[in-house]
Amino acid sequence: MNSKAAPLRDEFPLLAAAPELRYLDSAATAQIHRSALDAVVRHETTRRANVLRGTYRLAEAADIAYAQARQTAARFLNAGSTDEIIFTSGATASLNLVAHAFGNTLKAGDRVLISLAEHHSNFVPWQMLRERTGIELNFIPVTSGGELDLVALPRLIDARTRLVAVTQCSNVTGAWTDVAAIVAAAREVGARVLLDGAQGVQHGPQDVQALGVDFYAFSGHKCFGPGGVGVLWGRGELLAKLPPFLTGGGMIASVTPQATTWALPPQRFEAGTPPIAQAVGLAAALDWMMTLDWQQIHARESRLCELLIEGLQRIPTLRLLGPAPSAARAPIVSFEISGLHPHDICQVLDAHQLALRGGHHCAQPLLAALGVEACTRASIALYNDESDVLALLDGLTFALKELR
Ligand code: PMP
Repeated sequence: MNSKAAPLRDEFPLLAAAPELRYLDSAATAQIHRSALDAVVRHETTRRANVLRGTYRLAEAADIAYAQARQTAARFLNAGSTDEIIFTSGATASLNLVAHAFGNTLKAGDRVLISLAEHHSNFVPWQMLRERTGIELNFIPVTSGGELDLVALPRLIDARTRLVAVTQCSNVTGAWTDVAAIVAAAREVGARVLLDGAQGVQHGPQDVQALGVDFYAFSGHKCFGPGGVGVLWGRGELLAKLPPFLTGGGMIASVTPQATTWALPPQRFEAGTPPIAQAVGLAAALDWMMTLDWQQIHARESRLCELLIEGLQRIPTLRLLGPAPSAARAPIVSFEISGLHPHDICQVLDAHQLALRGGHHCAQPLLAALGVEACTRASIALYNDESDVLALLDGLTFALKELR
């Protein structure tokens, strides 16, 4: 593999056009890489047609581009087969797909285990499933640092547990989940594992086979690709047994007034016109990611994260949320400052060209467990540098003066 050094802001059209902007909200949406944007434009201007329907050359070109995008996603995830890749509109759609398709195979009394650290998109679909089917929903608690408290795992998982659905990495604290421990516990009782990779995928190519999970969900906009597209990977033998979620064009084998039969995966799970150009753009982003030196990028991001944490620790009345500073974490740092609302902090920072998110980050159960209603979050990506971190620390000093 040809490994490249950390990419510069210039490779990201929005950042290149706004040199003054300090973008520290990549956990919400990462900036799109030039190769992904170019691929979308190229597709829309040379190959735009619907897929799996037309026989004219333009439609065939669209089919080929869409099939290649699937192959790229399969390579990025080290999937066993291209047919295990389902394109969706994003991680939320992927997670809802599992909650319906897999969820429909569950019955009252079956158990699903999630954690209190989940994003609402891996929380609410399971509550809805509980309402629909009478499953029992259990929750892995979190430690005071927001990490999954796996000490509780043995008493939460048993032969009735059919699925464990957890995040790979918290969008609030950056804490990585010990996936191997979850998979080992799930395997012991024959439960399946769904990993919400929305925050993991920004940190490099994944290996779903090595992770040992059964489903993996992510969004394109979090890994330098376009919005409106995501992936659900599922084990082939498992997908083959699942009923569809959404129904309509493109997902059937035959339809008569009496009955409909389903196409094989992945088509069974891609009803309607899929996000074609977006999938092509996502594939370009994934291809580009596969050329990078991730060890070097992680080392650089960790240094920036440490610099930020050191600076934040010097601010009186600031409480850092999340794992101990020495713990391995994704470069996501959340904090609260006593007496100041995160929205006010973010507004003052915005006036200094600093883009950060404040609020509950779609993780209210986690924030409640950490004892806060809202917090401010800085998330660092591969295009950030030391000057962004120092500007944030200066901006916070200013915000403290302005708001107190
Ligand atoms: N899970 C996690 C951990 C996330 O951070 C997010 C996005 N913030 C999602 C799921 C949902 O992703 P999307 O909004 O792209 O569907």
